[in-house]
Amino acid sequence: MTDKDLTIVDVHTHIYPPAYLSLLRSRTTVPYLLDLPDKSAPPRLIILPSDDDSSIPPESRGRPVDASYSSIAEKLDFMKKHEITTSVISLANPWLDFLSPEDGPRWARTINDELERICSEHRGKLYAFATLPLSASPDDVVAEIHRLPSYTYIKGVILGTTGLGNGLDDPNLDSIWAALEQRQTLIFLHPHYGLPASVYGPRAHEYGHVLPLSLGFPMEITIAFTRMFLAGVFDRHPRLKILIAHAGGTVPFLAGRIDSCVQHERHFPELETGKRGPRRGFGEVVKTNVWLDAVVYSETSVEAAVALVGREKVMFGTDHPFFPPLEEGKEEWESVQTNKAAIRWGQDRLIMGDNAMKLLGLEAPVGE
Ligand code: URA
Ligand code: ZN
Repeated sequence: MTDKDLTIVDVHTHIYPPAYLSLLRSRTTVPYLLDLPDKSAPPRLIILPSDDDSSIPPESRGRPVDASYSSIAEKLDFMKKHEITTSVISLANPWLDFLSPEDGPRWARTINDELERICSEHRGKLYAFATLPLSASPDDVVAEIHRLPSYTYIKGVILGTTGLGNGLDDPNLDSIWAALEQRQTLIFLHPHYGLPASVYGPRAHEYGHVLPLSLGFPMEITIAFTRMFLAGVFDRHPRLKILIAHAGGTVPFLAGRIDSCVQHERHFPELETGKRGPRRGFGEVVKTNVWLDAVVYSETSVEAAVALVGREKVMFGTDHPFFPPLEEGKEEWESVQTNKAAIRWGQDRLIMGDNAMKLLGLEAPVGE
């Protein structure tokens, strides 16, 4: 089987549309874009609170944001180099979380219109996950969810872990869960906030973004999803569909322990089934409501994801344009090579693309 015979779908790939970058450039608090005195160098995205430190030289703060973050031509070129047939693009973190309640809905429409426009110019090659105005009122968020079916290429929504500000176990999210469930809109749960900086210790600045990205991100989504579960979100909304980034963080490894802790927690009244906690157990929820991406850079971790949710619910992703090549001018990105190797590239049609085609109802690219 050659790669040309395969449908390869990247479900985890980001974009900062130019309008969003202009918004970041207009800001002076995190997140913001910092232009360097050397105009030939890409601006720096000051994305984490720890980046907002003027004692660090500007060229070492945050992350460089070059054209690969906003250029669709570069996205398509990257896809071609890595034999990706179709990408489901999403706005990268921190989405619209930082906007005022008044500005959020307008920006959500602007970004979602832009994603739809981009995808319509590359039919079947590009689809998108929409963004929601989570700083606005629940009614505004619900209105945007109900507007999404008017788009052709939007196949779900990307969601951070803060919800309306109090996390994903907030009862005020219920109307939003209900709308997502009613519309059968896939939620792509993605990290941004990591863990409180104090857990990384006083030397954290010496390690750049390693601790927040390698440990903070996976723990953040593990905690967010577990809080949703503990709050009974999947009891009240049993048809919710959620794709958890980075193979579910640590959920595949910790699922048994989470379940055991719930069963032993006397705080939860005993149900007539003899069980405690949410009616639908952790195992049932992960098997029915949860899909995982394979952006985890290790075969062992992909196999843990597969063991938890089933091979037909794990999907290839790249996290492009994050984790770029380590050497200038390199054709294949090491981060993608590692992810390809982890899913045993060429052997697993389901994870490479068929699962995503089915879940998202994608059509093959037109005219190529
Ligand atoms: N991947 C992302 O999607 N966002 C980051 O901030 C870093 C890696
Ligand atoms: Zn990502």
